[in-house]
Amino acid sequence: MTDDVVVLGSGYAGTGAVKRLESVLDDEADITWVSDVDHHLVLHESHRCIRNPEVKEKITFDVAEIKAPSTRFVQGRVTDIDADERILTLEDDSTIDYDYLLVGFGSRTAFFGIEGLEEHSLTLKTLQDALDIHEAVTEAAREASREDRAQIVVGGAGLSGIQSAGEIASFRDKHRAPIDIHLVEGLDNVFPNNDPVVQAKLRKLLEEKDVEIHTGEFIGEVDEETVYVGDETELDYDVLLWAGGITGQEAAATADVEKDERSNRIEAASDFRTSDERIFAIGDAALVDQPDTDQPAPPTAQAAWQAAEVAGENIARAIRGQPLKEWTYDDKGTLISVGEKAVAHDVKGLPVDTFGGPAAKALKKTVAARWIKKVNGFADAAKAFPDM
Ligand SMILES: Cc1cc2nc3c(=O)[nH]c(=O)nc-3n(C[C@H](O)[C@H](O)[C@H](O)COP(=O)(O)OP(=O)(O)OC[C@H]3O[C@@H](n4cnc5c(N)ncnc54)[C@H](O)[C@@H]3O)c2cc1C
Repeated sequence: MTDDVVVLGSGYAGTGAVKRLESVLDDEADITWVSDVDHHLVLHESHRCIRNPEVKEKITFDVAEIKAPSTRFVQGRVTDIDADERILTLEDDSTIDYDYLLVGFGSRTAFFGIEGLEEHSLTLKTLQDALDIHEAVTEAAREASREDRAQIVVGGAGLSGIQSAGEIASFRDKHRAPIDIHLVEGLDNVFPNNDPVVQAKLRKLLEEKDVEIHTGEFIGEVDEETVYVGDETELDYDVLLWAGGITGQEAAATADVEKDERSNRIEAASDFRTSDERIFAIGDAALVDQPDTDQPAPPTAQAAWQAAEVAGENIARAIRGQPLKEWTYDDKGTLISVGEKAVAHDVKGLPVDTFGGPAAKALKKTVAARWIKKVNGFADAAKAFPDM
């Protein structure tokens, strides 16, 4: 009898795992791929659509083009994972049985209980989110004037906050729009908990782009007009984009596996197995153990796509009763854009620790193109390259 393998999510984790499963499984299992959207989104370049919505064509790929004909795709939002019965329930109440489940459905934005934040902010997790931010910024710019400039506040200066602020600044420059941009980070510097040299470089690029940086005080409350930062700063806003953190998907809460209590991100060993031997978890949805450290693998595209390769193979191994492979995250470096410019940090194999300029920009483009090539082939990678 063949096993049913179900993969959740069409992001880096899900897409990478499906491709790997298709290449390693023979006829011993049927693959069902479930996602709430019918495309793969290159989420780590989604901020480009804030400046230019036409980029969406370059960073979304139909699952029908990605998957093998033998893989069944079901579009639907998973609402319940019954680990005892091995059944998933979707939003429309339909169900899917599985023998092995790979959870790769990413994360949601975390609001940390900050009053008014969820109600009044935009977030960036989907293609539609990026297009909505573009629309909101465009509308705010249209209603503003040189004397009464539109105020755009971005909360959170991690990868998505910094890169989004950079794109909003490029939008402003391209359209000569009367916009002020504020980037608010509660910790002491932009790109917190990272190397001070890369932090300084990013700060410089953001300041050159006229992004006003506020660090060291947290957003405490938001109402329909104002973001309250610490005890003294009040920022009136027309558009508020919140990029301050991630938490687990709602459906993860329903699965009877070990999870982080606060976030519901699923605990997985370094072979991706969870406390239920039929359920594996990777990507932002998971907290994947790493040897010799108490920190899990980071919630990045880079980690998700590395993990997907091994997780796909491990499911095939589990089906065959073979020992599973351990995975250690291999940090190949960080590439961050600020509009047209970029910073590269700790890139493996290069003698310089941190650099910007054309070399960093070219590397950033190359990494995005490499992923697109893997997902959908060289032609699409080449088409996307100029916009990355
Ligand atoms: C603007 C931005 C910039 C970023 N920049 C970088 C960067 O430069 N480098 C880097 O490494 N990382 C970056 N990241 C982080 C990176 O994008 C994530 O870590 C990565 O997307 C995680 O991959 P994933 O497959 O786990 O989740 P996702 O890519 O989020 O994919 C989750 C998938 O699951 C689907 N889904 C969600 N819920 C359900 C459900 N209930 N049922 C069915 N399907 C569901 C979603 O539609 C999606 O297809 C950035 C993120 C953002 C937002």
